Amino acid sequence: LVQRQHFCAQRPSLKPAMSGTSTYIGRFAPSPTGSLHFGSLLAALASYLDARAHHGQWLVRMEDLDPPREVKGAADQILQTLEQFGLEWDGAVWYQSRRHDRYQQVLQQLIDQHQAYRCYCSRQQISLRHSPVYDGYCRPSNQINRTLDPNQPAATRLQVDETTIVFDDAIQGQQQQRLDTEVGDFVIRRKDGLYAYQLAVVIDDADQGVNQIVRGYDLLSSTSRQIYLQQRLGITPPQYSHIPILVNSQGQKLSKQTYASAIDPNQPTASLFQALRLLGQNPPQHLRATSTREMLDWGVQHWQLHQVPRQTHLAESLLEL
Ligand code: GLU
Repeated sequence: LVQRQHFCAQRPSLKPAMSGTSTYIGRFAPSPTGSLHFGSLLAALASYLDARAHHGQWLVRMEDLDPPREVKGAADQILQTLEQFGLEWDGAVWYQSRRHDRYQQVLQQLIDQHQAYRCYCSRQQISLRHSPVYDGYCRPSNQINRTLDPNQPAATRLQVDETTIVFDDAIQGQQQQRLDTEVGDFVIRRKDGLYAYQLAVVIDDADQGVNQIVRGYDLLSSTSRQIYLQQRLGITPPQYSHIPILVNSQGQKLSKQTYASAIDPNQPTASLFQALRLLGQNPPQHLRATSTREMLDWGVQHWQLHQVPRQTHLAESLLEL
């Protein structure tokens, strides 16, 4: 029997992300793996405009969870670029690298509640078992006759029930994902000791009171996992809006890895104008000659989320038109 869950299972252990009367709290959460490129500017701008158009707060959180993937100086550079673009955030920037104690606390809570378990399987062992998703080999119910060394390195997985997560994305429409068969028990802390993005993002969004998330389409497939985790922790899910991502001519996401053109922080108005265009906001030509402040003010006043193309991908070549 598949339970259809629509954000209902509440377990009051963490504070809900928002109450009915809360104001809008949005955020931009870059990973400091390189300088800001045009694709991430789109996410930054869309989340900023949506927050400001709702007289809301806009937070910036540095998702520096994975030191081997990080580039020295990138975090500062991203913040500097945001400033040069006039994208002023509220409050202090949070750094995930300073939040490990909090992640550990929630992880332990999930283990204590038998919602998460230690997994000793290697990648190779998992692939040899030819299961489309993790097969639950280390689930406590399967470990009865096994002697396990608690000091052996282990990942931590969240146990996923037979569940279909359904949610309405404000841009992409209704989404649904069957978690147990399409995703399986997923890792919330890696074997090498790093906390997984899925865990950190859910805890931080809740702790920061974030109730509106505008981000790139590439994260849509993570959203069901995040909603499931929110349900397990008694957190009210935020509203999600996934904007199309920019892809190059090979269809690859523009990212630091595909050598996406870094935006020129000395030409902020040109990039902002292009970004407003790609977000479907039809900026008038005369705006090209204005300041970043005027351009952002125009963007806030005229912001229409429903004009953002309901597309998953946008071609980078549109930037040249
Ligand atoms: N840090 C993630 C990234 O840069 C974004 C996380 C999010 O917006 O939820 O892709």
